[in-house]
Amino acid sequence: MALPAYDDSRPRHASSPLDQEDPLSDLDAFIAGLPKAELHVHHVGSASPRIVAELAARHPDSAVPTDPEALTDYFTFRDFAHFIQVYLSVVDLIRDAQDVRLLTYEVARDMARQNIRYAELTVTPYSSTRRGIPDAAFVEAIEDARKAAETELGVVLRWCFDIPGEAGLTAAEETTRIACDLRPEGLVSFGLGGPEIGVPRGQFKPYFDRAIAAGLHSVPHAGETTGPQTVWDALTELRAERIGHGTSSAQDPKLLAHLAEHRIPLEVCPTSNIATRAVRTLDEHPLKQMVDAGVLVTINSDDPPMFGTDLCVEYGVAARLLDLDAAGVAALAKNAVEASFMDSAAKAALTAEIDDYTAAWPR
Ligand SMILES: [Zn+2]
Repeated sequence: MALPAYDDSRPRHASSPLDQEDPLSDLDAFIAGLPKAELHVHHVGSASPRIVAELAARHPDSAVPTDPEALTDYFTFRDFAHFIQVYLSVVDLIRDAQDVRLLTYEVARDMARQNIRYAELTVTPYSSTRRGIPDAAFVEAIEDARKAAETELGVVLRWCFDIPGEAGLTAAEETTRIACDLRPEGLVSFGLGGPEIGVPRGQFKPYFDRAIAAGLHSVPHAGETTGPQTVWDALTELRAERIGHGTSSAQDPKLLAHLAEHRIPLEVCPTSNIATRAVRTLDEHPLKQMVDAGVLVTINSDDPPMFGTDLCVEYGVAARLLDLDAAGVAALAKNAVEASFMDSAAKAALTAEIDDYTAAWPR
């Protein structure tokens, strides 16, 4: 997410794909049942109105409504300032380890409903530890939710701990310390989020070096709201193995060729790109250019309820942009498996599930 570039020219939900009243098309039905993996989705940014209502009920002193219907209105953003206000009010509801556990488990429940079988969830421990939740309690809460989600919901969660770039080197140090010293079992990667303008990737090199030395994969956001040079910086300075967004890569044919040649995947989040105005309209989205250049693209939802979307909607958007049928959508789903940090046996199993589902379609 890139808050400074947020599109404040229209109400958020007014033109959301979720608002369309068309009956579920065949392709939408295929997408809904398709086993999926998601690689770019944020923890607090995944708090749906239902989850926010549950958190608000735990903290009656907050100004956030507890009724899901009132919350749908509450989540209809009037402008950028209102979006920030709502986002921060949700952050303010995560006050103790039980809130963290509840949020994490309930996010997995929303994923299970979309047939998401595996997700690398971007978690920002610094947001919670700076608010007084002890680091060990935070880690225990997400790990407890992760194990329960796997056995009870069939959703495998893994973590990407990310540095909130706007909070600078203090946040970088704290995030690296928690990642390397506490090293939760589910942690697979290390990220960098927040604004890109005025936040050069290179300043975080020492922290990424430590995380990589500890065995974590490097997955920074880059090229979401700034040009292709930021993606090059993420590759050379932070040794990125995958790029969060990478939208502006399409402006640099050499970069696209480099990403394709080295099989460095992009985590593309189409609706988020429109909401944050990284891209003006969906018709202008460079997804097809990326695919045509041979880049391994994955489809993701970023902060789904905040942007009025979910992963199924994003696959539908990608299918329209790329003119895909069911087999084409299944190939995108397999890209996410390939680009994930699952072990090879887990990759083979989920790929086989996708193939079996596709071969049996239409049911
Ligand atoms: Zn993001």
